[in-house]
Amino acid sequence: MIVAVDGPAASGKGTIARAIARHYGLPHLDTGLLYRAAALALLRAGGDPADAAQAAKACALSGIDFDDPELKSEATGGIASRISAYPGVRAALIARQRDFAAQPGGAVLDGRDIGTVIAPQADAKLFVTASAEVRARRRFDELARLGIPIPFPDVLADIETRDARDRNRAAAPLVMAEDAHRLDTSMLGIEEAIAQAIAAVERRARA
Ligand code: C5P
Repeated sequence: MIVAVDGPAASGKGTIARAIARHYGLPHLDTGLLYRAAALALLRAGGDPADAAQAAKACALSGIDFDDPELKSEATGGIASRISAYPGVRAALIARQRDFAAQPGGAVLDGRDIGTVIAPQADAKLFVTASAEVRARRRFDELARLGIPIPFPDVLADIETRDARDRNRAAAPLVMAEDAHRLDTSMLGIEEAIAQAIAAVERRARA
């Protein structure tokens, strides 16, 4: 079974995708981490995020440790959001994601374009969303836990900038697949959101 989980930054899609993967015993890929890894590789190589060719080259991801805490920083996320608009960057990362989805037994992938571009054949698709304020509050709390203190208004502004960029880009914009189940987590706790997500996957996968 392939499960596609898409949605904007800090919507809860990562937590939900991991819980679905655990529930069904499936491997999970956080595809945002690939774009973040490309951004970090570019920065470490002294590259320019405004240069699409340099960004595409960084997608070889050489020398990147996927446990590097710098991958989670707002700075890396911001650069990831910028370079993910380049068709050459998306093309360079597509095979890795499609191969992951094609594993025997299936997989759970979360990102922005899983249900629309990477795995349109997915058995179940979720579009996880929440208001910008709620998402900014979650990101703010997460950053505080990681010891990265950033003022709340800055986190909110960053989320809104990133949303606009992800929704308005020409290449694989953030958009809900027609056959996705929309799950708004603004008013839900983690356990409730996970329960509703699994119930939706059950309905979709059996349909
Ligand atoms: O999900 P996360 O915030 O880690 O993703 C970082 C950035 O990577 C996003 O802002 C988005 O622009 C980009 N991304 C993407 N397609 C995906 C996953 C992430 O364009 N499938």
